[in-house]
Amino acid sequence: MKKLEKLMSIGDLPEVAVSNVPTLNQKTGTWRVYRPEVDKGKCIKCSICWRCCPEISIDIDKEGFPIIKYDYCKGCGICAYECPTTAIKMNREGK
Ligand code: SF4
Ligand code: SF4
Repeated sequence: MKKLEKLMSIGDLPEVAVSNVPTLNQKTGTWRVYRPEVDKGKCIKCSICWRCCPEISIDIDKEGFPIIKYDYCKGCGICAYECPTTAIKMNREGK
């Protein structure tokens, strides 16, 4: 929870140059071995996962919850690692 003391919402984030076109617009989700899944019951809508995803594979829905774009997510697990409430679990694909 220490991270949240510094970073509370999207509005608090610094402006950075980002693209909303993941990885040259190629669908890379088939590379994934582990699949991130969000537990909305634990999510506090901090958007840290959205900020950290190197593949720009997370959107935020109208309620503020993250949506994983599985067509592009490579399953690196950074979002799960950075989530302050362990709301994202990495589950083996196909299980
Ligand atoms: S899943 Fe975790 S990191 Fe992402 S918005 Fe929810 S609490 Fe924040
Ligand atoms: S597992 Fe990696 S690529 Fe997939 S949504 Fe999380 S941070 Fe992005």
